[in-house]
Amino acid sequence: MAELKNIRRPIIIAGPCSVETPEQVMETALELAKSGRVHVLRGGIWKPRTRPNSFEGVGQEALPWLMDAGKATGFPVITEVANAQHVELALKAGFENLWIGARTTVNPFAVQEIADSLKGTGVEILVKNPINPDLNLWIGAIERMKGAGLDEVHAIHRGFSAFKTGRYRNEPMWEIPIELKTYFPEMKIICDPSHICGRRDILAEVSQKAIDLTFDGLMVETHPSPDDAWSDAQQQVTPSRFKSILEQLIVRQVSAIEDGFSQSLDTLREQINSIDNELIKLIGKRMSIASEIGLFKKDHNITILQPERWKEIKDLQTETATEVGLSIKFIVKYLEAIHQESIRHQTAVMNKK
Ligand code: PEP
Ligand code: MN
Repeated sequence: MAELKNIRRPIIIAGPCSVETPEQVMETALELAKSGRVHVLRGGIWKPRTRPNSFEGVGQEALPWLMDAGKATGFPVITEVANAQHVELALKAGFENLWIGARTTVNPFAVQEIADSLKGTGVEILVKNPINPDLNLWIGAIERMKGAGLDEVHAIHRGFSAFKTGRYRNEPMWEIPIELKTYFPEMKIICDPSHICGRRDILAEVSQKAIDLTFDGLMVETHPSPDDAWSDAQQQVTPSRFKSILEQLIVRQVSAIEDGFSQSLDTLREQINSIDNELIKLIGKRMSIASEIGLFKKDHNITILQPERWKEIKDLQTETATEVGLSIKFIVKYLEAIHQESIRHQTAVMNKK
């Protein structure tokens, strides 16, 4: 077993999106071994594809190909399973690590079937987030695996799909995996920047962001000739490109252990706490003034929402915000939240009999 919990952060899982041929997976593994930083070899054997008529994986024939590449390089191997039959075949082929994909996590019946088929096996299982941003569905899938008596259950964050894609193929919505961590503090959460990005050029940046957000590791799709890949060609990188991404990755400690450092960090955190406290009190004060305005509007029969005034507030504050180094995006979001709360206070006053 790979025993992910015993690997020093960051845990690195790499390999092709799909296992295509014995040569392709062997070449990838041999190249990845050169980096000296990869821990586990991944490869998709059954590919759940969104649209039919795309390559759906080689299937069970490819199980020994991945296994052999792992043996030749000393890497434990991991693949995706989507039903009990996949589990059975993978176990027979000697797999000790499996993951369930985003399209499986959304389906509690499928998850339960897989969990049941894993009972008593001691397999290490990684649960990808569901394709939709539903934290409970993700938690539920993890609970089903734990409920089957599996001790080694971890999560993979691969982003969430949206109707319209922008910069990312799958929106990272970092707050969701961060929230997941509070439910399962001991669990390892690996980030899959490949499926978040859907493209190569921002892979390094998103990998760094994940590590800065204290993710426990990365799962990255690598292919000897990415443009020729049979699936997810745009997001795969060569093993040597991945090696240089790993070399440039800055891995900061999750907690400050050295004494002096920890002390000064505590002092800074104290300052932050006290500023947050001041901010909240000030916002409270601002809202009581909003309530007074509400009374005035009520007495003079004026509507709560005054579009002109709202524009003026935004214009006035964005200038100062820029001066002190806050982004326009942030300050607009902040003012909108304040404005909404202010309207809530005014409405309460107006509707009071
Ligand atoms: C994959 O890892 O190749 C895969 C299919 O991922 P996801 O389930 O995140 O789409
Ligand atoms: Mn893929």
